[in-house]
Amino acid sequence: MRRKSVAARNTLADKLARIGVLRDEDLVLHLPLRYEDHTRIVPLRDVRVDETMQTEGIVKSAEIQYRPRRQFVCLIRDERSDASLVLRFFSFYPSHQKSLKPGARVRVFGDVRAGYFGPEVVHPQFRVVADDEALPEQLTPVYPTTAGLSQDALRKLTARALIADVARTEETLPDELVRRRGLWKFADAVRFLHAPPPRLNALTQRALDARTHPAWTRLKFDELLAQQLSLKAHRKARASRRAPVLRGNGTLTKSLLERVPFKLTRAQERVWREIAHDLRRAMPMQRLLQGDVGSGKTIVAALAALQAIESGKQVAFMAPTEILAEQHLRKLHGWLSDVGVEIAWLSGSLPAKKRRKAIEALASGEAPFAIGTHALFQEGVAMPRLGLAIVDEQHRFGVAQRLALRDKGVAEAHQLMMSATPIPRTLAMTFYADLDVSMLDEMPPGRTPVTTRLVSQKRRAEMIEWVGKACRERAAAPSQGANSPLTGDSAAAQGATVGGRQGRQVYWVCPLIEESEKLELQTAVALHAELTQAFAASGIAVGLLHGRMKPDEKAATMDAFVRGELQVLVATTVIEVGVDVPNASIMVIEHAERFGLAQLHQLRGRIGRGAAESTCVLLFEEPLTYTAKQRLKVIYETTDGFEIARQDLVIRGPGEFLGARQSGMPLLRFADLERDVALIEQARDAADALLQSDPAAAAKHLDRWLGGKQAFIKA
Ligand code: ADP
Ligand code: MG
Repeated sequence: MRRKSVAARNTLADKLARIGVLRDEDLVLHLPLRYEDHTRIVPLRDVRVDETMQTEGIVKSAEIQYRPRRQFVCLIRDERSDASLVLRFFSFYPSHQKSLKPGARVRVFGDVRAGYFGPEVVHPQFRVVADDEALPEQLTPVYPTTAGLSQDALRKLTARALIADVARTEETLPDELVRRRGLWKFADAVRFLHAPPPRLNALTQRALDARTHPAWTRLKFDELLAQQLSLKAHRKARASRRAPVLRGNGTLTKSLLERVPFKLTRAQERVWREIAHDLRRAMPMQRLLQGDVGSGKTIVAALAALQAIESGKQVAFMAPTEILAEQHLRKLHGWLSDVGVEIAWLSGSLPAKKRRKAIEALASGEAPFAIGTHALFQEGVAMPRLGLAIVDEQHRFGVAQRLALRDKGVAEAHQLMMSATPIPRTLAMTFYADLDVSMLDEMPPGRTPVTTRLVSQKRRAEMIEWVGKACRERAAAPSQGANSPLTGDSAAAQGATVGGRQGRQVYWVCPLIEESEKLELQTAVALHAELTQAFAASGIAVGLLHGRMKPDEKAATMDAFVRGELQVLVATTVIEVGVDVPNASIMVIEHAERFGLAQLHQLRGRIGRGAAESTCVLLFEEPLTYTAKQRLKVIYETTDGFEIARQDLVIRGPGEFLGARQSGMPLLRFADLERDVALIEQARDAADALLQSDPAAAAKHLDRWLGGKQAFIKA
């Protein structure tokens, strides 16, 4: 019913929806960004430069001036003191001229600055007032808003929403909880935040601004509590669903383990046990497998897949990019064809005929294992016996894709998500609290640490020379058998020696140009030409790999690189995830300042995989912005994925860290994941207690905070 009263005012409802207000009661939780003090009037003679204030005066003159540019200038004066103030408008409407007529009394609010003719305010808020018009008694809230929705309109709507229905400010928490945690009452907190009393003491004012005031604490607590409740509800819903029990008989997994040329690390053993255990249960697994770049997640995924296949079920393995999906295909094909499991391949660029064949094989249940990009989610692809869905680099999939996954009946399958982007503890506690997490916290043996160098573009010529030398040199240590992505480890012992060389191999990463794929391509081609020429004399072959190439062209280039026929591989960020060529021990990243921390870490993870000493050169262009400098400093100082993720969270904030549009979770509006860790923990405990003691209150609380947005959360 309440929803209706908003919906009736059609365009207004649209605007409100844009700021996340879907129901009238959402206005109660639409809290101010800051406040303005309109409760006092500073006499004109006391107006000081660099202050934000409200004053009042009589319009003496008002005119449009044309120099240095068109503007509307109005002079107001105090009758008593002769002090004056200039109001300056660079954008204005006829209405400005109409109301600011000589003789009118105006009340003005804004930042005072020093002008040519004394103090002035540019684009002040102003209002023509009567002689003795009363002042507001509370601080004036400034709300987050959107185009076409004025502060005044929002203030009125909110004030009305606050009093129209007491249910909107009703307490959802048991008295006992509120008292024990020393929380403000909900109604008191929202009333205070929407309309704080004037003349707060400095300490209170500061707490209000910094959002550490008890009124804010109550709101943050409630927000976090709602989030925890929603995650728990989600989990409960999952527990009531049924997935196939994948007992397995160990034949295929055992055979794979015998075939790979390495022993699982202890971390891999442990994680594999955790997953194997989950798969044997009827509750759908939702496990996140975290492991830094190169920690060996793929073999664990392969084992999980085989357990499902042993149990007569199908497996879908999805990767976010075509090149990564292809790498998985090659590696898994190498491993699984040996144990007699065929793989169906599905990607967006597959010719129609092959695609149809693959789809048929999957639909009939004849093909047990599908690998692909999000083409796997697409219409027409059915896997009637789907038992396990594996999603690599899960955070790179968008909400829409995850929704499609849900519609595919994957909710009734086990899910294994993999990510090399470690999630900081606070995020794990909040956004990912519904997942079980397995950690690969140990690297396979034989890795060598990567040395990182920061080099200015000014020294580019030197860099090119150094790289050329490194390519010609024999590698310091004999390179271990490269794991050919084409054939899998078992046929690996080829490496760079096949091409007749033992020099070091180099990834040369093109600058990232997010705005234009075309420009990025041109840059890649130009860079390839530049390096080909620079290295021609020394017989160093340079290859090029970019996203626009056909899959078989890409494959051919990768193969040539793996075999050592190419020493330098110029690549766009298509190599960001997953690519695996152990003999490549140098990486040069052009315009490293344009990349995000996670990206740099992922890229750098492509080297340091063999025995040779590895170097990552970050070429940067000066001048650097502040955040770029911070990022490069972090990546220079540490190679620990967790520390990097934590720093990333600090530099970027959780919204961007998760990719607000990508995350599928409404981000926290008020609580701060770095600063409010203690509150998160309290909210988590309180959520358990509340669900136990008063499920009705919990439901009411959830509805208040997430009412209109529930569907989104499930994504
Ligand atoms: P990521 O976790 O980044 O996906 P991969 O699964 O691609 O890492 O593994 C990186 C490389 O390490 C691959 O070549 C893989 O075959 C190899 N590898 C995996 N586990 C081990 C191990 N226990 N010992 C030695 N090499 C391993
Ligand atoms: Mg991987």
